[in-house]
Amino acid sequence: MPDLALPLAAWYRDNARDLPWRRAGFGAWGTLVSEFMLQQTPVSRVVPLLEAWLARWPTPGALATAAPADAVRQWANLGYPRRALWLHRAAVEIRDRHSGVVPRDVDDLLALTGIGDYTARAVAVFAYGDRHPVVDTNTRRVIARAVQGRSQPGPAAKRDLVDMAALLPDDVAESAVVNAAAMELGAVVCTARSPRCEVCPLADRCAWRAAGYPDTGDTRTKQARYEGSDRQARGAVLKVLRAATTHDLAADEVIGDWADPTQRDRAIDSLIADGLVEAIDGRLRLPR
Ligand code: SF4
Repeated sequence: MPDLALPLAAWYRDNARDLPWRRAGFGAWGTLVSEFMLQQTPVSRVVPLLEAWLARWPTPGALATAAPADAVRQWANLGYPRRALWLHRAAVEIRDRHSGVVPRDVDDLLALTGIGDYTARAVAVFAYGDRHPVVDTNTRRVIARAVQGRSQPGPAAKRDLVDMAALLPDDVAESAVVNAAAMELGAVVCTARSPRCEVCPLADRCAWRAAGYPDTGDTRTKQARYEGSDRQARGAVLKVLRAATTHDLAADEVIGDWADPTQRDRAIDSLIADGLVEAIDGRLRLPR
């Protein structure tokens, strides 16, 4: 495997975007919250809401004492609102099991609600500076192309972890930089639709480029249309309930004019099943 770490790290030092979670002293709690938010939402939408969130709840303990409804309200329009509930639960677990300090150990992080392989490693590496491979969608694309010679990542995410681990330098601090660099390169240069190979620091050692950019297939699952989807109906229900800060609402007051009543009922039922909405005597509210 060609040495990609050196050019990646050098490029990152000159080109990394100035983002809140990359600033010195941002802290493990800030890193954890940012990683929850970034799981499904673009950076530009996350930054203002992240800052508001951390201003309101600067520690896990502060969030743990809030009502889950406040977390769902503060989540606003970031999408996939179950993340707000999970983050609240994780804050309670951090307070109760770890004395209010975000754990450093990957297994301890994995045991928290809502934290998977990526987020656990991201916190251990970016907040605590430890040496683990961190592989997100952008990193997977860079590895697929530069290392594996594929046009898009394959389904085997475990292989990507192994390939990323092989790229990391022994130096612990430098390994964190290379992890961040691979993610950044995938986000701003080696993008899914139009990779900018002319400015890429890996251009002279990229396997896919050397092979003449073969189309090796695309196994990624396509994002379903939002317009007309159950997700849209769920978002509309939550928007109404977020705005109702003083009283519960009768079920028919919640998007009662939705064009597809069956879809509306399905959306409400699924939100109740997810714990995002409570139904008390036929009235609806955010979880208390
Ligand atoms: S050379 Fe092009 S395809 Fe290869 S890693 Fe760089 S941007 Fe991606």
